[in-house]
Amino acid sequence: MANAPLEIVQVGNPVLRQPARELSSEELGSERVQKLIADMRETMRAAPGVGLAAPQIGEALRLVVIEDPPTHHGKLSAEELARLERSAVPFHVLVNPVLTVRTDEVVAAFEGCLSFAGFTMVVPRAHKVRVEALDETGQRIVKVATGWYARILQHEVDHLNGIVCCDRMESRTLTTTANQVKFWKGKSADEVRAAVALDF
Ligand code: ZN
Repeated sequence: MANAPLEIVQVGNPVLRQPARELSSEELGSERVQKLIADMRETMRAAPGVGLAAPQIGEALRLVVIEDPPTHHGKLSAEELARLERSAVPFHVLVNPVLTVRTDEVVAAFEGCLSFAGFTMVVPRAHKVRVEALDETGQRIVKVATGWYARILQHEVDHLNGIVCCDRMESRTLTTTANQVKFWKGKSADEVRAAVALDF
């Protein structure tokens, strides 16, 4: 059967607020879960997005797909890509991921979420993380990531714990995606913070 994009659930759906459960190795090898992984890949690509967690398609499972191909970077300048420390990440699957923060350094940047359609917000994230997980074949994998990739990993693992980006955002920076492009493109998080700060 062909893989079709699945419906992405939006914030407010309780499935985004419950901790997802681990997958057993038997389940991981099952036709159902292998099809789910293929469907999640197609759904992420169709959206398009750089990551998708199973709760976002209504499945409370500790399962994530990630891919940040160079074709996503066309609208960003070389300076912007460098500032975000964003470079291509090949497609991969994380099953039962365990994330640890590897630095005290925190970086803030605009991020969006496929379950928060039409909005973007500045979210502080750890600069460097380590994730230990299984891949789609049940092999143990370890990813150590910095910059934008570390941001993706933290965002997706948050989904497995019932956390969405608005829980961590700097709330005064919330903007529609259209207005982010119109007013804030190319601005650093510090510049955005200063521009929207309340002057007490
Ligand atoms: Zn998300």
